[in-house]
Amino acid sequence: MQLTRRPLAPEEIDHELVWLFVSLGTAAALAIWLWARLPMPRCIFHSLTGVPCLTCGATRAARQFFHGHFGASFLFNPLAFTTYCGIALFDIYATAVLLTGASRLRLRDVSPREKLVLRSLVLVLLAANWVYLITAHIV
Ligand SMILES: [Zn+2]
Repeated sequence: MQLTRRPLAPEEIDHELVWLFVSLGTAAALAIWLWARLPMPRCIFHSLTGVPCLTCGATRAARQFFHGHFGASFLFNPLAFTTYCGIALFDIYATAVLLTGASRLRLRDVSPREKLVLRSLVLVLLAANWVYLITAHIV
């Protein structure tokens, strides 16, 4: 696996532009939802089982994150908090490359073994987060 920098190729999808637009659009929709004090969606999984799902607490974590209460955001859902941090870093990077025309970061030569390791890591993180949510009793 290799992280490289290169200019955007002709006909290549501009991932930085697309995902920045998706990210900011989603954040704006969430901000409007919270500002309008619309009702929060109920977790069907939690209602049926009494056990939090993988994303329980993500909305409260987002609300705390937007208010700059990062510790509280982490406690509501550590993986959601980590995801929000990653999205914020990506948005900063995407804005910088779009404004300056700088080279884009791309992964290349990802071997099947590396893909397996990355997928396994994601599953472990999801499982660890779920165990935390079940044992932390925040829901
Ligand atoms: Zn849930």
